[in-house]
Amino acid sequence: MTTKRDHNVLRPRQIITEAGQEKAYMEQLFHEAPEAMVQIINEKIIRVNPEFTRLFGYTEEEVLGKEIDKLLPSKDQLTEANNISKKINEGETVHAESIRFHKNGRPINVSILGTPVKMNGKIIGVFGIYRDITDRKKAEKIQHLINNISTSVLTSKSLDEFLVIVKQELDTILDTTNLFIAFYNIEDHSLSFPFFADEKDRFEKISADKTITGYVIKTEQSVLLKLKDIEELEKQGEIELIGSASKVWLGVPLQSKGEIFGVISLQSYDDETAFTKEDLDILVFVSNQISLAITKIQAEESLKIAKFKAEEAAIAKQQFLSSMSHEIRTPLNAVIGMSQLLLDIKPRPDQIEYLSALKYSGETLLSLINDILDFNKLESEKLVLEELDINPLLIVKKTMNIFLAKAKEKDNVLELGRAENIPEFVLGDKVRLSQILTNLIGNAIKFTEFGTITVNVELESENSDQQVLKFEIEDTGIGISKDNKEMIFESFTQERSDITRLFGGSGLGLAICKKLVEAQNGRIWVESSPGFGSIFSFTIPFGKSDHKPEKAEKSKPGPKTKTYLKGLKILVVEDNKLNRVVAKKFLENWGVSVDEAENGVLCADMVRKNSYDLVLMDLQMPVMDGYEATKKIKNMDNGKFKELPVIALTASILIEVKEKIENAGLDDILIKPFEALDLYEIISKHVKKDQ
Ligand code: ADP
Repeated sequence: MTTKRDHNVLRPRQIITEAGQEKAYMEQLFHEAPEAMVQIINEKIIRVNPEFTRLFGYTEEEVLGKEIDKLLPSKDQLTEANNISKKINEGETVHAESIRFHKNGRPINVSILGTPVKMNGKIIGVFGIYRDITDRKKAEKIQHLINNISTSVLTSKSLDEFLVIVKQELDTILDTTNLFIAFYNIEDHSLSFPFFADEKDRFEKISADKTITGYVIKTEQSVLLKLKDIEELEKQGEIELIGSASKVWLGVPLQSKGEIFGVISLQSYDDETAFTKEDLDILVFVSNQISLAITKIQAEESLKIAKFKAEEAAIAKQQFLSSMSHEIRTPLNAVIGMSQLLLDIKPRPDQIEYLSALKYSGETLLSLINDILDFNKLESEKLVLEELDINPLLIVKKTMNIFLAKAKEKDNVLELGRAENIPEFVLGDKVRLSQILTNLIGNAIKFTEFGTITVNVELESENSDQQVLKFEIEDTGIGISKDNKEMIFESFTQERSDITRLFGGSGLGLAICKKLVEAQNGRIWVESSPGFGSIFSFTIPFGKSDHKPEKAEKSKPGPKTKTYLKGLKILVVEDNKLNRVVAKKFLENWGVSVDEAENGVLCADMVRKNSYDLVLMDLQMPVMDGYEATKKIKNMDNGKFKELPVIALTASILIEVKEKIENAGLDDILIKPFEALDLYEIISKHVKKDQ
């Protein structure tokens, strides 16, 4: 069976028996092949096929007898071409991709197959096949270009930078000597030019009316216009030529989401053949990618601008609030201070009530303003936390002490509940902890009547370097509904609007607490049911303290005795008369003799002439501000008054103010409005008395 089938197999060699027949086939193949073929003997061309003459533009006569390496490669390709020839002559078959040149100088991308022809084992000549791979190379370049454009969207810092890259990339396949990108503004029908490279013209912003660019936008068509086409359009009244007339004009609309937003154009002023229909197709193809990239970059840029504007607005808001804080706190200082002074001079019983109400209102207003400013500060600045040895239980007790009177006013009992295993010292921020406790205990009292407020503290967990403390503020007050438990921790929210009317408040207290707790890596939550009271709990992981007394929280010297300040001489520098009166009265009550100065210039003089124990210095004053005045005092008369304590009085909470205060050499700060006790303590801390 096998043998029989073998007989039936068609074998070319068996069928084409005559040599002539085979030759005819080979001839036909050589003649019709779609590749350029060349036969070479002794390095001279002896035969080329029609495709060779078509591809390279030479006639048969022009090439016969010539050396191929002197015909097709450029001069700087000679070594490369010679190497190929050498390898073939040594018996190797060579595949290569390179560029060879048309008779008219046009480069052609080719793949080359060169092979030695052997007879009886001896090389008798060379056979070469060239295939035109220009299209494939072009397609590769376009692909490459598209890739580069899409990646440069990610690397470009701006639209300008990106458009320069677009030109560079387009330059690898098209002549971009005259390239522009126009953006169309539909509102005023104008064109602007984010990119414009041109041998002759330069436009900034023009009307789109009667321009070729406008024509492309209107017709929504890509165009390849030769000079005569342009003249024809002009005749039809479609366009009116502005600028220099080009021999060929190529333009493609740029679009995003179906809307044309611009045009990309190439032109030549001297060569009508500079661009072909094929070039237009390429431009159309890459314009999609360019459109996408431009839209993306523009969106990013407008986002950046929006972000910048938002940041600017935030800074403006911060500055506004800071200066407002000064403006509001200064008169408040006078209101609270004056009412305290009036209360101190034994008023009639009916006046006590009015004065207390006045003082209470002032204080309430102040705490409200403090809440708003504090929240604003937390929103706009990064919270810097202290890590000092603090005594947590002492802070809890001290905070509770502040509220004892208030709790009593509402017939509430305020008591310390569980407080076991509490470390004596932990590393933490005293101010922030008392701020949270103040808010929560304050709320508990505010929303409870005839009830009990219990504060519990416990060590929740501990590891080698941290101790997590849990604080609970439990009340038997009005409670909070289930739905509102999450909401109340957000800013400006209160459980019900009638609560504001009833209890007052800004709705910021819990939002501030949440921020403060979370900034310390803790957690805050509430358990409550309406009518049955609430338990606000928070945990804070504190660093472990090593209990060393020198690292312990610096305790203020504090007023030694009630008469500690008696006999001191203090200069109050302050432009606001009311504030001067308040400070003076406080000080005189403690037996201090007081001089007043209205501004910085006056004060320096007074310091020189009188021997003061301390200066209280307002910072914002006309003529010479407190910073300048302090610098002057500390440097005058060869530093004679360098040791004289100068305390800044300021209503500003800005961080910059703190820095300026340090730079000016001020010794301490007292934030206005201040309590009498704060003033007493800060003076006691800084004056030297031999007592
Ligand atoms: P406010 O300054 O208005 O008290 P907070 O942020 O401190 O703002 O509290 C927000 C709201 O949460 C309050 O208005 C109140 O409705 C509710 N709330 C807070 N603490 C308690 C509490 N202990 N008992 C009942 N409701 C409370």
